[in-house]
Amino acid sequence: MTTSPEPLRESLERLVAFPTVSNRPITALAAHMAQLAQDVGMRVDRFDDPDDDGKCTVIATAGPDDDTEGLTITGHMDVVPTEGQPWSSDPFRLTERDGRLYGRGTADMKGFLAATMAALARMDLGALDRRLALVWTHDEEVGCLGSAKMVDAWQEEGRHLPKACLVGEPTGFQILRMHPGHVAIELAFSGTAAHSSRPDLGRNAIEAAATAVAAIRDLAAELATERADLPEMERPWVAVNVAEIGGGSAINIVPDRCVVRLGYRPLPGMDPLLPYRRIQERLAELPHEGHVLRVTPAMLTERGTGLEQLLLGHAHTPQLGSAGFATDGGNLSRLGLQPLVFGPGSIDVAHKADEYVPLDALHRAVDVVEHVVRHRCGVIKAD
Ligand SMILES: [Zn+2]
Repeated sequence: MTTSPEPLRESLERLVAFPTVSNRPITALAAHMAQLAQDVGMRVDRFDDPDDDGKCTVIATAGPDDDTEGLTITGHMDVVPTEGQPWSSDPFRLTERDGRLYGRGTADMKGFLAATMAALARMDLGALDRRLALVWTHDEEVGCLGSAKMVDAWQEEGRHLPKACLVGEPTGFQILRMHPGHVAIELAFSGTAAHSSRPDLGRNAIEAAATAVAAIRDLAAELATERADLPEMERPWVAVNVAEIGGGSAINIVPDRCVVRLGYRPLPGMDPLLPYRRIQERLAELPHEGHVLRVTPAMLTERGTGLEQLLLGHAHTPQLGSAGFATDGGNLSRLGLQPLVFGPGSIDVAHKADEYVPLDALHRAVDVVEHVVRHRCGVIKAD
């Protein structure tokens, strides 16, 4: 067996050094990931974001074209910001302390990207019986936007990917087969402006919004009692959050406009717009317009898939779980994929100062990816 041409630690060091916070361009890291895929003999395709030329998704494949057996491996290239966080070292310079590799994205989820490429470098991808696809996305951290756009286009073009799908988010090597989605809603309340000395001549939009917020709070309490039979989930109900409000222009004017934004988390397997329709029923009497700003789909993969069987041999627990966060797996499900979330590092350290991945977990991830690819894609012999 050959070792990776670039030791794992150095390879992660290079990925972390790209400051790919979601509001910044991702193209330099995308070009680097494309090159790494080419270096291991994969065909590389790019899906450019139609709305932002600094963004693209990298899709690399090996093995038979158009095969839906095999394996899709996915991860996001973007990371969350570091501003205002008390880091002990430069977040974009990989630092090793006590067997841990510190840096933004080490756990979430550049460590997994590096581990995947190290695993693939050990194999002869020219010898695959079934197709292997890598999907490296952007803007996952701000609502899975990259995968949403790619999946929209691929659905239209009738393109597909191998159904078995490994989403390498940090789960501490627990298999997660579901997560809720997220729906963002904007409610715009209209009123009639008047001088504040004669409020009876106006219609107060902020008061209408306040009535709506109270009604939504009551509905949220009701939803919290409607528990789904999903034992894997910590919160098996639709969580609602009224998140932003803005209205009014001056202290002496009856406000004629107020905008409320809220988000809720549809359960796996649920029509994501069902809670929105219930909100609208409650607000029927109030003068307003509602808009769905964004739907990030939930994910639900059935028990007992072949990939699950393979991952169970590497899992730290036989219990399957649910992620509390959304992943690109939700969008990829729309292409008929059956994603499982499983990877090195802990979500508890992600998004915080001093994010890290244990070096031994990273090495273990290399072995997991190698094992899974060999079995799913039929690389019989090692080099
Ligand atoms: Zn992530």
